[in-house]
Amino acid sequence: MIVVLLGPPGSGKGTQAKRLWTERKWPQLSTGDMLRSAIQKGTKLGIQAKSFMDQGLLVPDNVVVDLIAERIELPDCRPGFVLDGFPRNILQAGVLDRMLEVRNQPVDRAVVFEISDEELVRRLSGRRTCVECGAMYHVESAAPKKPQLCDHCGHSLIQREDDKPEVIQKRLIVYHQQTEPLVEFYKKQNKLRCLDAKKKASDVTEALSEALQ
Ligand code: AMP
Repeated sequence: MIVVLLGPPGSGKGTQAKRLWTERKWPQLSTGDMLRSAIQKGTKLGIQAKSFMDQGLLVPDNVVVDLIAERIELPDCRPGFVLDGFPRNILQAGVLDRMLEVRNQPVDRAVVFEISDEELVRRLSGRRTCVECGAMYHVESAAPKKPQLCDHCGHSLIQREDDKPEVIQKRLIVYHQQTEPLVEFYKKQNKLRCLDAKKKASDVTEALSEALQ
C-alpha cells in the first residue's frame, strides 16, 4: 500500500508513520528526516538545504524529488511505503504520480491530519529533539525523565532551529499556501481521508488504521 500523510508541521504525521513501521513494517519515507541527516553528515545537499529549512521555507523541488526517487527504488519499498512530508506542493504531487505510474503502483490513500494553528504553535514551540537519535519530547506533555537529556540514548535535547517561534509562523504560512491545496488534489482522485489530529496519539493511531482500511 502507498500512503501519503498530509498535514501541517507538528500534526503528528511522523509519530504515526513510525507506528505504521513498528506495527506493519511499512517503511517511513520522511523527506524532513532525510534532509536533517544530510545536514548532520555535512553533505553538499545538506548545506544547500539548511538555509531553506532554517527559514521555514521549502527546499527546491528537484532536491526532494531526487531523494524520493532514489529511496523508492530500494527493495524494502517494493510492497509499499508511507510518505511523511512529501509531496509538499502540487508540482511534487504530480511528479510523484508520474514516478508511481511507471511502477504501476499508484498512491492508494492520502490521509490529512486536521488541527488548528494555535495547537500547532503550542506543540512545536515546546518540542525538543534528541541531537543523536531524533527522539521527540515536549516540555509540558512529554518531558524527558532527566531535564534536557534523551531517555533512550542520554544525549542532549535541543530545540530545532525551525521550531523557533518566528520560523513556526513561516512554516504554517507555507503549509497553508503550498501544501493545503493537496487536500483538494487527492479529494478529486477519491483517495482522501481526514482525521482529527488534536486527539491523543493512541486515538489518532486508531483513526488512521480505520482510514487505511
Ligand atoms: P518536516 O520535518 O517534514 O517538517 O520538514 C522540515 C523542513 O524540511 C521543511 O520545513 C522544509 O524546509 C524541508 N522539507 C521537508 N520535506 C520537504 C518537501 N517535500 N519539499 C520541500 N521541502 C521539504
